[in-house]
Amino acid sequence: MAKKILIVGGGLSGTIVANGLCRQLREELSSGSVTITMIGATDKHMYQPGLLYIPFGKMRESELFRDQRKVLDRRVPYIVDAAKNIDVDKKAVTTQSGKTYNYDFLVIATGSRIRPDNIPGMSEGGHWFYDLEGARKMRDALATFKGGNIVVNVNAPHKCPVAPLEITFMLRDHLAGKGLLDKSTITYTYPIGRLHALEPVAHWSVSAFEQANIKSETFFNTKSVDPKAKTITSEEGNTLPYDLLITIPPHSGQQVITDSNLGAGGWVPTVKNTLLKEGSDNVFIVGDTTNIPISKAGSTAHFEADTVIDNLSSLIKEDRWARDYDGKVFCFVETGFNSGTYVWFNYTTPPNPGPPSQMIHWFKLAYNRMYWLSARGLL
Ligand SMILES: Cc1cc2nc3c(=O)[nH]c(=O)nc-3n(C[C@H](O)[C@H](O)[C@H](O)COP(=O)(O)OP(=O)(O)OC[C@H]3O[C@@H](n4cnc5c(N)ncnc54)[C@H](O)[C@@H]3O)c2cc1C
Repeated sequence: MAKKILIVGGGLSGTIVANGLCRQLREELSSGSVTITMIGATDKHMYQPGLLYIPFGKMRESELFRDQRKVLDRRVPYIVDAAKNIDVDKKAVTTQSGKTYNYDFLVIATGSRIRPDNIPGMSEGGHWFYDLEGARKMRDALATFKGGNIVVNVNAPHKCPVAPLEITFMLRDHLAGKGLLDKSTITYTYPIGRLHALEPVAHWSVSAFEQANIKSETFFNTKSVDPKAKTITSEEGNTLPYDLLITIPPHSGQQVITDSNLGAGGWVPTVKNTLLKEGSDNVFIVGDTTNIPISKAGSTAHFEADTVIDNLSSLIKEDRWARDYDGKVFCFVETGFNSGTYVWFNYTTPPNPGPPSQMIHWFKLAYNRMYWLSARGLL
């Protein structure tokens, strides 16, 4: 009997896992001793980091999308029929249309989603760039903005640890370019007592904010937004007026995860080194969906996917474990329209952001184009 690998979720990590397994299991796929099937929710693949550039007109919408079937190895059937229930006891996934798919090995890669609806008034009063519709609205709002108070409001948990900092620095350069800097203030709010969850990044941000004249409010856990009064209030009792509210809404995992009782908030309890679902030896969790307390980022998802490829193919070919995931994360950080830096870290090494340079900014722009090679497993 062929060993069946089922991948749920055709975003960044699911696609890299599928394409990588096709390379590692070439012989098994051609002999028919292994099959790989992917279940997804949409026929499009979105490069989400590109959303950062949409509000400023620095990337076109069409650059963010590819047809998922073209990104995926042709040996993997791609079924657009979102998973409705995942039964790990019966080793079966049921889709919206009522079909059931059995598996020997399951990879859950369903990612995360924004939840502005979890904070009263945020959907009506806030702008964001974390999905395409939000990024379009933010682009329109910036086009008519004539100056005033901008609040950049960060909520947790959220994916991409550095995007809130990037948008803040880019907003500053946008205002400068429009001649609105003298008429505007930017205030960045963060839920804990420093500017970033990663302590060295928080430390680095203090002087970067000073240089860019960006104000901040820490211990700001958002309670509500009043779209009529144009104010945002924290649980700590701090109310800030705004003319333009840019928010990074809190995130959750997908409904299918909570509906299948796989994890509170849609985050699946995952062993941090093996990426196996806790208590399981055949269900791998990869990308934003894990509950591992590290940054939810594309690079995290990529490095995790590489680990899953090695282990799953080793298990199938040689019945042995290949290697552990070390918590590696790498993120470019835009520090404006023309400069950038980067951070890398893992479970044992903290990040150490260096001085921004134009070259690193160009590297990030180049990677934005090269992502499609990376998703195909060619980079
Ligand atoms: C604005 C922005 C900027 C970012 N910038 C960066 C950056 O600079 N660097 C970086 O490393 N990361 C960045 N990220 C984060 C990065 O995009 C995510 O962390 C990454 O995409 C996570 O990969 P994933 O595979 O876990 O989830 P995703 O890529 O989100 O894929 C999940 C897939 O699962 C599908 N799905 C959902 N529900 C179901 C279901 N029920 N059944 C089947 N399929 C389902 C979805 O349609 C989607 O295709 C950014 C994100 C955003 C929004």
